[in-house]
Amino acid sequence: MAIINSLNSAREKFGGLLNSFKNNAKIKASFADQILDNAPMEFAIMDLQGHYLYANDLYITDADLRKKIIGNDDKYLFNKLGIGAECIEERMNHFQEVIKDQKATRFIEKLLFTERNSTRYYKRHLFPLFKDGEISGVCIYGSDLTAVVLGQNELKYMAYHDKITDLGNREAFFIQLDQIITDIPRNREKQVTAILFCDLDNFKLVNDTLGHNIGDKVLKEVARRLKESLRKTDFVYRLGGDEFTVIGKHLKNEYEAVNIAKKIIDSISEPYQIQSHTITYITVSIGIGTLPKDGDDRETIVKNADMAMYTAKKEGKNQFQFFSKEMTQQSINRLKIENNLQVMVKNRIFENECEVLYQPIIELTSPNVYKMVGSEALLRWNNPQIGKISPEIFIPIAEETNLISPIGDWVLQKACKDLKPLIKDANKSFYVSINLSTRQLKSIDILAKIVKTVKDIGVNPANIQLEITETGYVEEQSDILKVLDDLKNKGFKIAIDDFGTGYASLTYLQKIPATALKIDKSFVSNLNVSSDDNQLVKSMINLGRDLKKDVIAEGVETEDHLKFLQDNKCTKYQGFLFSKPVDIKKLKILMKKESIY
Ligand code: C2E
Ligand code: MG
Ligand code: MG
Repeated sequence: MAIINSLNSAREKFGGLLNSFKNNAKIKASFADQILDNAPMEFAIMDLQGHYLYANDLYITDADLRKKIIGNDDKYLFNKLGIGAECIEERMNHFQEVIKDQKATRFIEKLLFTERNSTRYYKRHLFPLFKDGEISGVCIYGSDLTAVVLGQNELKYMAYHDKITDLGNREAFFIQLDQIITDIPRNREKQVTAILFCDLDNFKLVNDTLGHNIGDKVLKEVARRLKESLRKTDFVYRLGGDEFTVIGKHLKNEYEAVNIAKKIIDSISEPYQIQSHTITYITVSIGIGTLPKDGDDRETIVKNADMAMYTAKKEGKNQFQFFSKEMTQQSINRLKIENNLQVMVKNRIFENECEVLYQPIIELTSPNVYKMVGSEALLRWNNPQIGKISPEIFIPIAEETNLISPIGDWVLQKACKDLKPLIKDANKSFYVSINLSTRQLKSIDILAKIVKTVKDIGVNPANIQLEITETGYVEEQSDILKVLDDLKNKGFKIAIDDFGTGYASLTYLQKIPATALKIDKSFVSNLNVSSDDNQLVKSMINLGRDLKKDVIAEGVETEDHLKFLQDNKCTKYQGFLFSKPVDIKKLKILMKKESIY
């Protein structure tokens, strides 16, 4: 009853005003003005060209600017307020959308105040204003959301970060790991991801003897060193306690994880100076699991990397272990090879450890005459620490560690020096074929270097064939193609080595200025065993002939191989049937033979 009474009395009081409000546009407009001016919201009105007709006190707090904005647009306003010009585009898109669709729209606007270096967020509504049924303006209103957004960001940050070290925490690690696992099927490059479980050695001693406060400071320093020793694409997390994980992405192979582990082990074992304490006993044990080899789901990979970490602890701490024992052994052997290659290159002691052997390249010049027309220079390495190591093992390591260039330079020089007196003895067209790795071809001074070496030693480029391995990516590298073109123009022969094993397409063959194809020995050794390989070899021979290139069959071991090749009109061969790679003295003796077989 009381409510009805008070409603009635309100109606009596305001009845007059209500009626005049309904009928009097002036009063209505005056009320609307007051609402716009005083509303706890930002209001502005623009014409269809984006010129301001009105802005309220909250929209532009500076009274002077509020006056000046009338007739001006957002470009002017943003400039005056120090907002980055890049923020205009989004607003303009929404503005145009309202005009086009004649419908309201809303969005969250992010404004970057460049001068103040701060970001603010606004909730915006834009809606069309009509006059006589025609759209004639756009109203923009909204409110400042910055506090809400930043609060949410902070909460999010706290949920995924570790308080002590500011690194990503366990949740963040799992999210990242899940993402990587989801991406595996799309990873066309066949790259490897390594998960490195890092557990500090002897950290408990810090807490027990120096207290948690110092312990926390050590953890912070560990986090700093971890971040410092990683590449841009690697991530580091603290799972809790003294456990950290590193995710190494985009690795070419498992061994690259060793480089990350080595760096971490070195940096973590450096002494820690915390206040007046010098702590020298902190090291780290690392377990490495790789994706997709060691597991393709989160639980398995984590379990395996963790197990590897325990092995590292058990084996004496301050070291890494792969989940796969074989991988650990292989990577240790590899490290040995890498270190010894490095020592050889650094001390320039190639002569002490290396030798170049030559394997004859034969041509059937007339029936039953197998003439040696050239030879391939093949590097041998005999290291005092490790012994003899096959080039199939050490060359790829030299390539990955960038040591191939100085080694390759030495082979080129040595082969040219060995070749010079041979040319005098043999006929003028005798050549030496030298392997060049793609890595060497990519070094900027390669062309000048080859040309200079050949000139200084005094051999003719026509007596040199450069073998490049068939890899799909050469054709995309215009700088390499240019080097090869230049080399060919200077008279060098160019052969595509291991032909058939890579990704060579017909376009590749057209683009590479090759003078010869060397059919890979894996096909030749399968001749008469696999009918597919018979067919492939036939096609390669025909292709080479059609493209007017020399075709050399590698790995000719038996008379059957030779017969098949001859029947199919391949006339150049290299293989154990004729000769294994021999030293220069033996090569000279072979050279004297009219026919080598
Ligand atoms: P490649 O260039 O394809 O060399 C041919 C390889 O096949 C040589 O192995 C040779 O000894 C072997 N071979 C030749 N005939 C036969 C045969 O009838 N049967 C069998 N089973 N094998 C045969 P090697 O000397 O072990 O060299 C392996 C690879 O190492 C070479 O393959 C080449 O890619 C690389 N390499 C060797 N020396 C150098 C070098 O100085 N620089 C560079 N970048 N790579 C080199
Ligand atoms: Mg070769
Ligand atoms: Mg080959």
